[in-house]
Amino acid sequence: DFAKSKTLSQQRQFLPIFSVRDELLQVIRENQVVVVVGETGSGKTTQLTQYLHEEGYTRNGIVGCTQPRRVAAVSVAKRVSEEMETELGDTVGYAIRFEDVTGPKTVIKYMIDGILLRETLKDPDLDKYSVIVMDEAHERSLNTDVLFGILKKVVSRRRDFKLIVTSATLDAKKFADFFGGAEIFKIPGRTFPVQNLYHEDPCEDYVEAAVKQAMKIHMSSAPGDILVFLTGQDEIEAARQALSERMEEFVSSTNQPISKMLILPLYSQLAADSQAKVFQKAEDGIRKCIIATNVAETSLTIDGVFSVIDSGFCKMKVYNPRMGMDALQVFPVSRAAADQRSGRAGRTGPGTCYRLYTQSAYRNELLPSPVPEIQRTNLCQVVLLLKSLQVENLLDFDFMDPPPEDNILNSLYQLWVLGALDNVGNLTELGWKMVEFPLDPPLAKMLLTGEILGCTNEILTIVSMLSVPSVFFRPKDRAEESDAAREQFFEQESDHLTLLNVYKRWEAEAKQYRGEWCNVNFLHGKRLLKAREVRSQLLDILKTLKIPLSSCGRDRKIVRKAICSAYFQNAAGFKGVGEYINCRNGMPCHLHPSSALYGSGCTPEFVVYHEVILTTKEYMQCATPVEPRWLAELGPMFFSMRDSTSSMLEHKIKQKVVKTAMDEEME
Ligand code: ADP
Ligand code: MG
Repeated sequence: DFAKSKTLSQQRQFLPIFSVRDELLQVIRENQVVVVVGETGSGKTTQLTQYLHEEGYTRNGIVGCTQPRRVAAVSVAKRVSEEMETELGDTVGYAIRFEDVTGPKTVIKYMIDGILLRETLKDPDLDKYSVIVMDEAHERSLNTDVLFGILKKVVSRRRDFKLIVTSATLDAKKFADFFGGAEIFKIPGRTFPVQNLYHEDPCEDYVEAAVKQAMKIHMSSAPGDILVFLTGQDEIEAARQALSERMEEFVSSTNQPISKMLILPLYSQLAADSQAKVFQKAEDGIRKCIIATNVAETSLTIDGVFSVIDSGFCKMKVYNPRMGMDALQVFPVSRAAADQRSGRAGRTGPGTCYRLYTQSAYRNELLPSPVPEIQRTNLCQVVLLLKSLQVENLLDFDFMDPPPEDNILNSLYQLWVLGALDNVGNLTELGWKMVEFPLDPPLAKMLLTGEILGCTNEILTIVSMLSVPSVFFRPKDRAEESDAAREQFFEQESDHLTLLNVYKRWEAEAKQYRGEWCNVNFLHGKRLLKAREVRSQLLDILKTLKIPLSSCGRDRKIVRKAICSAYFQNAAGFKGVGEYINCRNGMPCHLHPSSALYGSGCTPEFVVYHEVILTTKEYMQCATPVEPRWLAELGPMFFSMRDSTSSMLEHKIKQKVVKTAMDEEME
């Protein structure tokens, strides 16, 4: 009701941060670094930047605000431009990877933390910024953690620069200590008590349990909206469907009317207009049930929620040494995260949090706080970046929580295999070029091999298609039709070439028919448009590096060879129908049913793949057959390697005895 009846400026004045506005600005005036702590929803993200603007900090520079999550950067920038009554991209803008919505007049810039990190490459002192707000520092995202070390230097070099670190939790002291005892400013809380209710027994299927709980709450006519925390898009869509079916069933089997419930998903890949619905108040008498990932934990605040249902799980990117790569996996949340989730029920009035796990699990099994990303993910991209920033010894870099030494060494090793580092660990010419691309190092390498082999045009498309979510649309009730549609794009049993084909044929359609063409072919038109945007930005980078656009015409074998060069970590040898085994670490990996190779009767001895997805088993996502000699041609690098994994690999490739080695492993 509040959001409807009050103007935006009245809403601003009602936020907890407003009551301490002047004090806060004074502390900022008197200190170069300030850590601001405040409950989720107190106004840190949307108000701080505006206060700084009103106070004149944007007269000789930009106020930048970093976000660990893309969704938040976009959503908050939109909100703030509304509050300031300006067009988005004008005074207030945002920048996320491959999407820059800022202009010459932009003075408040929300951006994903990785963007600011890349800006330090061109402008080490960040001279165009007068203030940086490092928002959501408690999330401890990889890039935020690296920025901590870099911004600490900027603070010591630029007296005119202000740094504000915000956190929704009480880890503020750690941040303050890192900056040699920065000032801590607490925004007084204004929250209502939340009662936590636990499951008596561990639940087997938390999606089902969440659906049941949501039904129960809705039937009990408890007040307010419901917020459900699940781990990802698939679960959210499944829960949404189950919940609406359950509602219909109830009505048809009991003939009792029940009041309406608006079920709204919330995850990062969601289209902007669907996201906006989450913030709008539903019509009178209609309850909202928002089913979200942990983006609703602290990054986005939703008012009006009285009940939270917490699955107790979240998806996290974790470096899996067995796979030799990062994988998104489902893990129990930490106690700190569970408390954040529960707190979402107490923003508007006293609330209830239904925890779908036992109290004993909460007390004894959950970690007190999440493990920072820097300690659990692949560091290749960060290491490449730091190397280009002339950080000589990475083991000495000023990390708040240093990553395990093994992780750093492993990343150095991977970059060396890719040819980005030389034998003494300095960036090679190739490495310097790779830094220019906002891409994972293997994809940058693919592009640059395309230069050598004369197929940048094709590789550019493949890399762009790999940088957007899957363009294939596969509705459950029309699975066969959509599979048949995809098959028309298959070529040389390569999933990478399939992507290339899709893009080429889409582009060949006249603009006005593309939408229809996408529908008929079960493709996401918006994602193809996005791929085109990515492509044009990467093309700009190629131009600045003076790398010409080249094409190998119909000779797609050359394209496969370039693809091969990127994925040395992800090369796998044939084991049996549908089954491969990673050459480096012996991990079994399977052809995905959606792959062009699956059921094709073609059984190449070696394939490379983009990534592994873990569902019921390890599936190769996007695979391409390669020739053993292409792998062997990457040889010179391996011949100088000393560690046992790599010499074993070299042996395997030379002898082609992958199969036997694997059989041994299976025993
Ligand atoms: P904090 O960063 O301290 O968690 P925010 O500044 O994000 O707080 O949010 C302050 C208030 O602004 C919240 O009440 C939230 O509901 C509201 N708000 C933020 N973004 C939006 C949006 N896109 N639409 C509507 N309201 C929003
Ligand atoms: Mg915030």
